[in-house]
Order: sequence, then structure tokens, then C-alpha cells
Amino acid sequence: MAATAPTTERLTLTEPQPLLIGGREVAAGPTFPAVDPSTGRVWAHIAAGTTDDVDRAVEAAANAFTTWRDSSPDIRQALLWAVAERLTEDAHNWPALLATENGRAVREGGLIDVPTAAEIFRFFSGIVRDLHGRTVSCGPNAHVVATPRPVGVVAAIVPWNSPLISVAHKLAPALAAGNTVVVKPSELASVSTVRFIRLVQDLLPPGVVNVVTGFGNDVGRALVTHPGVAKVSFTGGTETGRRILGDVSDRLVPALMELGGKGSMVVCPDADPDTVTEDVLTGIFAANGEVCFASSRLLVHRDLYGDMLERISARAGAITVGDALDPATQLGPLVTARHRDAVAALVRTAVSEGAELRAGGVVPEMSGELAGGSYYRPTVLASPGGTTSASRTEFFGPVLTVEAWTDEDEVVERANDVAFGLANGVWSADLARAYRLADRLDSGMVWINTWFATPLGQPQGGVKASGFGREGAAATLLEYTATKVVHTSLDTTRPPMWT
Ligand code: NAD
Repeated sequence: MAATAPTTERLTLTEPQPLLIGGREVAAGPTFPAVDPSTGRVWAHIAAGTTDDVDRAVEAAANAFTTWRDSSPDIRQALLWAVAERLTEDAHNWPALLATENGRAVREGGLIDVPTAAEIFRFFSGIVRDLHGRTVSCGPNAHVVATPRPVGVVAAIVPWNSPLISVAHKLAPALAAGNTVVVKPSELASVSTVRFIRLVQDLLPPGVVNVVTGFGNDVGRALVTHPGVAKVSFTGGTETGRRILGDVSDRLVPALMELGGKGSMVVCPDADPDTVTEDVLTGIFAANGEVCFASSRLLVHRDLYGDMLERISARAGAITVGDALDPATQLGPLVTARHRDAVAALVRTAVSEGAELRAGGVVPEMSGELAGGSYYRPTVLASPGGTTSASRTEFFGPVLTVEAWTDEDEVVERANDVAFGLANGVWSADLARAYRLADRLDSGMVWINTWFATPLGQPQGGVKASGFGREGAAATLLEYTATKVVHTSLDTTRPPMWT
């Protein structure tokens, strides 16, 4: 389908984006460009932070921690709620910015990113007053209290694909539990984080949240290895997660790891093909397929395989690819030309291994200013036996592999035969069967008869190479605490050990 004309004016930020340290805006020294993936045009300039900036930010966060850790829960509750309200009032300013930043279709920012980020702050505002310790029964001669205490300065490292939501998932629970934070956004999506913290800066005590932009190998590495950092909270690729865990192993810094995924949708013969089709399209093509939870493998029972493959290929072929700023666009450009080329190369490899291209697999012809964009058509690969690398590799793009299965043991084994374990799904009219399959799938989340359902309160996170730790739930508060025990003896008698 052809691209349509943009209806929103393009953003250009002339002032370089500052660092945010200790409640102040620190003017950028050297900068690097932010590129709009719809056009390939530079639209903003990001401060290239240094290790000195990281030192200053960690110091500011450590200073702020000395008072923030003892702030009363009602103060934290009010602050988190106020952040959510501020973001909600500002909602209209975000879709164009998010679309310009990483190429997500503009229709998604207002529908998904802004409300979800605000909800995350509201959720932790709601539960912060229930963060409590417990007494431990140790008999009449002791009073023992175990209390979750904040850990200190949290290094929050986030990716580019849903930057506002990722930052909210780190900040809200870390602050609720009494920690202070230094955020390192992705070099491919830094403006949204800087803008968000500037928007709420006056609500935050100085130094409670700091932002240092820059590249992973210098600023990111300097931050996670900084001796003042007490916890790393990371969302990103599995390889980067491994590197970070190696880097922090000397200091034994605890880490929360939200890593990559390779989600399978398992479709039983009694599933409703209409519902499945809609869920598949959303599961793999929403957010350009650049989602850790993307359903990039469709395992369909042999009875439905031919029909589902036809329907989904036809629907994928009709998706409107275009300028992320255009409200009519259903799938925007991928985040960079480099990432687009990497996705295209993985598709070519799968085809050379025997997968059949049923839709997409091409870079569309774009004209005018869109000619410089990093577009890729929604792609469907047929691989009934699931024998190609497409069945195991995370594409992080709009590429679906459709496979066929005949019996339950086989489909479970195939779905689990991947390094990742983030999200899977089962579609069946028979809930007993669906539960049975869900129980056997190795992943942190399994959806039944839906996809992408992540209401707050439902823990999000993975197993295997998808990481560890859970976000978005009450238990997440505990990720940002360490239990401290105070044991009081009520007994003045002592055993005669030294007499
Ligand atoms: P990435 O791993 O390349 O980068 C993530 C962040 O880490 C960036 O801010 C980057 O600058 C930083 N970084 C890179 N090297 C570093 C180092 N040595 N030390 C410290 N920081 C470093 O990932 P990406 O390309 O931005 O995002 C895509 C990946 O993120 C995909 O694999 C996707 O599945 C994953 N992801 C996972 C979740 C989840 O919840 N599980 C959510 C979103 C994205």
C-alpha cells in the first residue's frame, strides 16, 4: 500500500537536550543527533554524557537518598499520583514526539504509551502505603521485625522501543520504595525521557531522579559499574544484559533483567479463526513488531493451518505502511535503517533455509521526504515444520513465522525449544485444554485467548534468556528493597557459657 501524506507538523528541537542532575538542567557539551526514522532527518541533538556526568548524577542521587529514604509513604503516594496527573494533562503533546523518536505509528502513542505510563505511576501510588514489614514469631523472649528497606541509588537502563513506559516501569516502583534513580535512556530514544523528567521536575526533590544521556558502552557502562550504585534495573537485549551482569559481578550488585523474547501463539483446532486473526495482527504488527512481547511465531493446528496462513498473509499485505506521524499509518518505519537492514537480513536467511515468503519481505518504495525513512513491509513466512532460524531468533521487527502442528506434546516441545521465555499464548474454546497447554509453556507469561493483556498488578517478566525479576506488580516494590531484620531480646538470662 502507498504511503499517505503527513497531517502533523514535523518536530524539530533546536536547543540541545540537557542532562538532568541534582534537580538542575546541565547544558549539553558534545552532542549526538536524534534521527527521525520516517525521514532520516535529524530532529534533535542529545547530550553525549561523560563519566564525570555519571559521577555527578550518582552523587546527587546518593545525597538525595539520605532524606528520600525516610520520606513518609503519604508523601511518596502524593508525588507519584501528581506525576501521573501531570503526564495525563500533557497527553496531547506526546504522540507526535514518540512517533518522531522511534517510528511508532502516531495513533499508538495516545492510545497506549501515555495512558500506560500514567497508570504505572497511579498503581504504585496506590500500593506504596501497603509496603510494610512483618513481625516474626520467635517465642515470648524476642521481638523480631523484618522490614523492606530501600537499597539506595538505582541505575535504570532502558531501551528505545517503548521509552516512556519503560522509564515509568523503573521509576515508579523505585521511588515508591524510597530509592533514588539515575536513568540512562537509549541513545535512539532519549528526548522522551528528558522531556518527561523536565515535565515533572518541580514535583521531585532535587537529585531524586537524574538523567544522563549517552551511549551504552560509555555512559551506560560507567553507570552500572559506579561504586555508588546499589541496584541495576535493566530492560534491553539479552546480550547487553549478559554484559552488564558480567560488569557488576565484582561488586555483586543485584539486578533486575527484562530481556528479549520469542513469543509463540499456539492455536488449537477449536479456536475461533476470526479472533485469532485479529490477535495475531496486533501481536506481531503493533508497535512495528518492535516489542519484547511480540508474537513472532504462530503455531497453528494442521486443521487450520492453510486457512490461517491465507488470511493472515492477505491482511498483512493490506497494512498501510508509512510516515509514523500520519494518523492513517498502521505500521511506521523501523527505528533505524541499520535495524531495518538487520531484520531484512534475518528474513533472507530464513528464506535461504527453506521458509516461504507469503507477505512482505521487502523495503517499500517511498517518495519525497519519506524516501530517507527506514521502512519495511509486514512480513509473513510459512515454515510448517518450524525448521528455520526464523522460529528461534528474535527479529524485533514486523516478521511472523507460521508453523503447523498435530499433537500437543509436539507443539509444547517446539514452543519451548527457544532460548527465550517471556510470553506465549494459547487459543482454544476448551479452557481445560488451554490451561493444560499454558501450564507446560516455559515463559513468565502465558495469555489464553488474548495477547498483550498487561493490566497493572499482573507481574511482567521472563525466564531463561528473557531475564529475571518482575515489573508492574505489587511484588515489584520488593525488587527495590532489601529486608532488614531487627531482633530485640526480651530476655535477660544467659546460658552459662563463660563461667
Ligand atoms: P540494548 O540492549 O541494545 O540497549 C538497551 C539499553 O542498554 C540502552 O540504553 C543502551 O544504551 C544500554 N547499554 C548498551 N550497552 C550497555 C552496557 N555495556 N552497559 C550499560 N548499558 C548498556 O537494547 P535495545 O536495542 O535498546 O532494545 C531492544 C531489546 O530490548 C530487545 O531485545 C527487546 O526484546 C528488549 N526489551 C525487553 C523488554 C522486556 O520487558 N523484557 C522490553 C522492551 C525491550
